[in-house]
Amino acid sequence: MKTLTGKELAAAIRAQAQAEAAAGPQPRLAVVVATDDEASLWYVRSIAKAAAGVDLACDVVDLGPGARPEQIGETLTRLSGDPGVHGVMLQTPLPAGASAQQLAGAIDPRKDVDGANPLSLGRLAAGLPAFPPATAAAVMALLDHYQVELEGRRAVVVGRSTVVGKPLAHLLLDRHATVTVCHSRTRDLASVTSTAEVLVAAAGRAGLIGAGHVAPGAVVIDVGTNPTDDGGLTGDVDFDTVAGVAAALTPVPGGVGPVTTALLLRHTARAANLP
Ligand code: NAP
Repeated sequence: MKTLTGKELAAAIRAQAQAEAAAGPQPRLAVVVATDDEASLWYVRSIAKAAAGVDLACDVVDLGPGARPEQIGETLTRLSGDPGVHGVMLQTPLPAGASAQQLAGAIDPRKDVDGANPLSLGRLAAGLPAFPPATAAAVMALLDHYQVELEGRRAVVVGRSTVVGKPLAHLLLDRHATVTVCHSRTRDLASVTSTAEVLVAAAGRAGLIGAGHVAPGAVVIDVGTNPTDDGGLTGDVDFDTVAGVAAALTPVPGGVGPVTTALLLRHTARAANLP
């Protein structure tokens, strides 16, 4: 079994982001935060640190957990209209009563580096240029990096969120995979996932995918990041048992995560260089 780590690929993507950033005005990413969720704040800090490492400016606009939806919307509109800001991202979770999908409509699609505006998903579905959500793009980047053939192959995605499952299904379809999307109402999940030659788990349920869910020789990408009692992270895939069946599997942490952050930076560098 091959472990598909993301570290090397993430470093290569960060180097590309740095080269692209150096080609024009210094790219500036603004991350709007309205939460005190520790895991979320940790992720934002890791984005800011990675940005500094590739000479990208990163502003964290912290509105606090008590921010009102109108305030968040106005902030996104202001940042979208600021010519000095090239990428705008809305971090989740949001305060009760605020809808990420509705608010993200205020992000200019040309600055929507995490593909959160519903227009970006629509453009992606229509095969038009758009920034895909960085996580969905990271899955594709890992599959390409490890030269996983997609054309004509059966791909199953577990999860149908607008940030991971749905955009990923479109990206896989664009690459001519035969795509099935599963969710919480899917009957007999294992009978569907075990048809996959490429299986992507993005449900946010620790250990959901066990050896009985995986066909021998499948390539398995684990998007799940579930907190553990000891402060660590674990995926949706039971790594140890699935490793005995799959041909290749991403680890958590160290698989999709680092590639996601790197792609967010590359998207920002690209947004800064858009004509
Ligand atoms: P989400 O919005 O909660 O969506 C989860 C999806 O999984 C839903 O479509 C849900 O079905 C489905 N699901 C839940 N339980 C299931 C079950 N028992 N069987 C089959 N399907 C099930 O989560 P998300 O934002 O897409 O994130 C998914 C995971 O990816 C989370 O662990 C998140 O932390 C992680 N993530 C990782 C990265 C990264 O960079 N590595 C980035 C973003 C997210 P319904 O639609 O029917 O409810």
